[in-house]
Amino acid sequence: MSDVIKTDALIVGAGPVGLFAVFELGLLDIKSHLVDILPKIGGQCAELYPEKPIYDIPGFPSVTGQGLIDNLMKQIEPFHPEFHLSEMVASVESIGTDTAPLFRVTTDAGTEFETKSLIIAAGGGSFQPKKPPIPEIDTYEEKSVFYAVRRMEDLRGRDVLIVGGGDSALDWTLNLQPIARRVTLMHRRDEFRAAPHSVEQMRSLVAEGKMDLRIGQVTGLRGDHGLLSSALCRGSDNAEFAISCNAMLPFFGLTMKLGPIANWGLSLSENLVPVDTEKFETSTPGIFAIGDINTYPGKLKLILSGFHEGALAAQRVYRYVYPDKRLTFQYTTSSSSLQKKLGVEA
Ligand SMILES: Cc1cc2nc3c(=O)[nH]c(=O)nc-3n(C[C@H](O)[C@H](O)[C@H](O)COP(=O)(O)OP(=O)(O)OC[C@H]3O[C@@H](n4cnc5c(N)ncnc54)[C@H](O)[C@@H]3O)c2cc1C
Repeated sequence: MSDVIKTDALIVGAGPVGLFAVFELGLLDIKSHLVDILPKIGGQCAELYPEKPIYDIPGFPSVTGQGLIDNLMKQIEPFHPEFHLSEMVASVESIGTDTAPLFRVTTDAGTEFETKSLIIAAGGGSFQPKKPPIPEIDTYEEKSVFYAVRRMEDLRGRDVLIVGGGDSALDWTLNLQPIARRVTLMHRRDEFRAAPHSVEQMRSLVAEGKMDLRIGQVTGLRGDHGLLSSALCRGSDNAEFAISCNAMLPFFGLTMKLGPIANWGLSLSENLVPVDTEKFETSTPGIFAIGDINTYPGKLKLILSGFHEGALAAQRVYRYVYPDKRLTFQYTTSSSSLQKKLGVEA
């Protein structure tokens, strides 16, 4: 296991609200690390509606989901946040006191942090893969059945069966085809939801004999000690057949679950984290909740609400990180010290 990473603030979730919190914390000289279960930054905006315009972000008459994330990333650049993607914050242990909070936080990939404040910006909870209803699939998971590709190299030279008809299935088919021994794509019908140019590329590879496309569904798995040797399938004509493979990647979409947050000792209300509206702190001093994950009287699940919540939470985090310093309120337009931090000195 690697060394413990010590930080002032650890943000759970790299959605729009977690990203803007980096800015507000950075202005107060508070360094942030962010962890997100997804392999990419941007939460719901990037995952669910990257190309849809949003019309109620102040100052932007219209900006797409991905456009907003790109701008936030530019805005927080001066503060050099460190991202830990494809990792889920699994456990949180309090090792400090109410007046000097300190938390030991561990991810499912084994990364360990020691942080003076924890900011939960986890939206609707963690995006988790939808699992296909195949008997005993759990005995193969993480050994030869994977719901995400963490390292492409692990699949080099293997016979890979990819299941699904959306963008993830098609993108990974095209990415892995050059390095796998053989890629087979299986979908329940010969129509795909993925981007048309990816589908075209896949069909050309099939026509050139460089990969296989099979129509049907996986009904069972064969193998030993979690190592797959073949997948049993049923075609649309009900005929049964087997596909020889030693890795399977099912891409059936994502679902949002509260996940491990339920076990962090916080009081919860209908799967949301109650906070006060002065500093957006939870029932545990030093743990904050901002954005879609929190609840309080009058809460609106809007991105702009989350931005406001992050600004106020940062003020309180400052007191934990710099207990002996006084915080003076400053505007970015007129404070040369803030402008210096932003690298925009006049
Ligand atoms: C189709 C659609 C349209 C929308 N349109 C608008 C609109 O027009 N205007 C508007 O204001 N809002 C809109 N919203 C709502 C808006 O997207 C949310 O309010 C916003 O994304 C909340 O941001 P967030 O950062 O709190 O959470 P999210 O964007 O949900 O990000 C949370 C992140 O936390 C991660 N996470 C959760 N648990 C863990 C864990 N344990 N470990 C590691 N990572 C974790 C998740 O993977 C996720 O990436 C829309 C939503 C949808 C679905």
